[in-house]
Amino acid sequence: MLASLDSLLASQQFILGPVVAALEDELSAWLGGVPVITCASGTDALLLALLALKIGHGDEVITSPFSFIATASVIALLGARPVFVDIDPVTFNLDPAALDAAITPRTRAILPVHLYGCPAVMDPILETARRHHLAVIEDAAQAIGAEYRGRQVGTLGKIGCFSFYPTKNLGAAGDGGMLTASDPELAHALRMLRVHGADQPYHHALLGINSRLDAMQAAILRLKLPHLAAWNEKRRQKARAYLDLFCARNLDRFLTVPQVPAECLPVWHQFVIRMPDRESVRQYLQSRGISTQVYYPIPLHLQPALARFGYRRGDFPQAELACREVLALPIYPELSQQHQEYIVDVICNFYDHSSS
Ligand SMILES: *Cc1c(COP(=O)(O)O)cnc(C)c1O
Repeated sequence: MLASLDSLLASQQFILGPVVAALEDELSAWLGGVPVITCASGTDALLLALLALKIGHGDEVITSPFSFIATASVIALLGARPVFVDIDPVTFNLDPAALDAAITPRTRAILPVHLYGCPAVMDPILETARRHHLAVIEDAAQAIGAEYRGRQVGTLGKIGCFSFYPTKNLGAAGDGGMLTASDPELAHALRMLRVHGADQPYHHALLGINSRLDAMQAAILRLKLPHLAAWNEKRRQKARAYLDLFCARNLDRFLTVPQVPAECLPVWHQFVIRMPDRESVRQYLQSRGISTQVYYPIPLHLQPALARFGYRRGDFPQAELACREVLALPIYPELSQQHQEYIVDVICNFYDHSSS
């Protein structure tokens, strides 16, 4: 690790350069050969995707109201309108059955999110997009390595967007992100857009931004990438262990455990359960030394920053309910079986005490 950083410091090639190019080749091979363009963050990946598709003022992009803010803020920042459709309450991903009703003559793209590392059900999304000549941009920030019908998510639509934020399944020691695009023209545009739209030094064919991956992050990601498949498999083992424990204790009387569609292979970025008394359970766990998280407490259509689009409480009831009920339990490759048993024991105790 220190050796590769040392040689990088000696080379003085801090931005893009051969280390970043090597990482892009390795990521491309890892994803099955699709061209990869790294950039400065997952948020920038989404922004660059919309820029490459020339989405802007007057355009509409359909997406999920149950995601991280970046999924929708980039649409709004470019002057386009995020058009939300409600989520499927089982998968937390956007409900394909709701898509048709959301399409207007201004719709340009559909932006599904593979939330918590579980693939969105892509076939009906891709089919709707094909019928209406819309681009599909995948927000795969939480889902590197997840598969839909045996294919890598982030390579199914026109453009895939990924994040190397430190807590993601493949995390850098700082910010980073990447895009995939199998269309060579789009891939070329994305490479230009991340360096101020330059096609050659100081000649700017497109209006772009500064969104380059730095070589330090690339060096670290190159060291971690060979372990990613094994780490994802470990997360799958931990998820199975949780599911077995919840089942053995009959906890499904009180709470809902994650369910994965048969055609999806998730990477368990998060393990999320849901229950009506989420806040009490969360406090109880906290008081016994177990930290949990809520992704996400406020649906995007009710975020103050997006108020200009005029959405109201009640517009997307499933997303709003999910915001009140979801709870992410600890999950990471090194999580021990004992700790998982302890966590499920504590949840059991909570319900034993509250029902007696
Ligand atoms: C993390 C994340 C992003 C943004 O990625 P950054 O690298 O933090 O900019 C976008 N969408 C989703 C769903 C994310 O989880």
